Amino acid sequence: MKDISEIRSDFPILATKVYGKPLVYLDNGATTQKPLSVINAVNEVLTGYNANIHRGVHAISDRASEEYEKAREKVRGFINAGKREEVIFTSGTTGSINAVAFSFGERFVHRGDEILISCLEHHSNIVPWQMMCERKGARLKIIPINDKGEVIIEEYLKLLSRQVKLVAVTQASNALGTVVPVKKMIESAHSAGIPVLVDGAQGIKHGVTNVADMDCDFYVYSGHKIYGPTGIGVLYGKEKWLTELPPYQGGGDMVENVTFEKTTFNVLPFKFEAGTTNFPGAIGLGAALDYVLSVGRENIRYREQELLEYATQRLSSIPGLRIYGDSASKISTVSFLLEGIHQYDTGMILDKLGIAVRTGTHCAQPVMERFGISGTVRASMCFYNTREEIDILGTGIEKVISMFS
Ligand code: PLP
Repeated sequence: MKDISEIRSDFPILATKVYGKPLVYLDNGATTQKPLSVINAVNEVLTGYNANIHRGVHAISDRASEEYEKAREKVRGFINAGKREEVIFTSGTTGSINAVAFSFGERFVHRGDEILISCLEHHSNIVPWQMMCERKGARLKIIPINDKGEVIIEEYLKLLSRQVKLVAVTQASNALGTVVPVKKMIESAHSAGIPVLVDGAQGIKHGVTNVADMDCDFYVYSGHKIYGPTGIGVLYGKEKWLTELPPYQGGGDMVENVTFEKTTFNVLPFKFEAGTTNFPGAIGLGAALDYVLSVGRENIRYREQELLEYATQRLSSIPGLRIYGDSASKISTVSFLLEGIHQYDTGMILDKLGIAVRTGTHCAQPVMERFGISGTVRASMCFYNTREEIDILGTGIEKVISMFS
């Protein structure tokens, strides 16, 4: 693996100072920083070949279309999807889930049906299903979690009834860090004839995601969570589903023939890419995936697990600090509270020390409710973070405690 100082120099923002102190960026669950190769790839589009894709007959439009389709191929390879037709570019995880909720709901969900999600979900994997259930007269059912923040598999199996039309579950919890045994859950759902959508927003940058091996029906993620640009995301769907589902948006590029009487739709994947897509973002995402592969996904996973272990030990040694979420398998996220100190106060004081952490519900309010709290402080690390930064966090937390005591 590349040396850590070499890795950090790939990410210009990591040299930033805030309040005169070196930035300690521990908010990677919210968004990740971008390596120069991604910044350069987007810059190159905008300065060298910015032209609308799939439409022009001129040279720079051809080049943009070609690079966009190359990026699709990179996304396909990265998750081991069978075909490029199964890879749709969207605006992000939220965009992808809303697309499936709308299209799948229109075609397959009826009054009295159920959609099954877990208590761990981000609002993005709750609200679109709720909206769809309301439209269709269906019900949302919730798989409970235990005190460690793990999905209770026995309860899940009990909920897999004939009424369930789809299971939508996260690969990893953004709020607690729990890695969810999605492969096992998909196997059980499939044996009951139920398709599964996996929210990969947090899972995509954790180890190797292989949709063929996982056998999920849909897999969604955001570019910005894996060192790529914002405003670009991925919807992977098995071809058989994407063929059957109606488009969720109409417009340019997604059509084959348009008359006022009738419109016929384009082939996959374009049927689901109405209008001008974020092609600079898609090309930037391709560059991000190249970067991740150049560092090595197993290397990244190993390093992040080391950081998780170190941070868990360091923070657990602080009296009055309680960690939420101690699943046996976690991504490198530590969610915690300090006794008698509000999470916002902790976050604001850490900020003044140059430490960026997340505070609040992390868009996962039901998880907070499950633990009877209003929110946590979350430190989410990734492979460009260091043990020294975790030490700075530890010392910062001790300072917060001493200020309040
Ligand atoms: N799902 C999970 C598990 C997340 O962590 C997030 C973002 O934090 C989302 C969905 C939503 O992602 P986006 O805002 O990029 O659409």
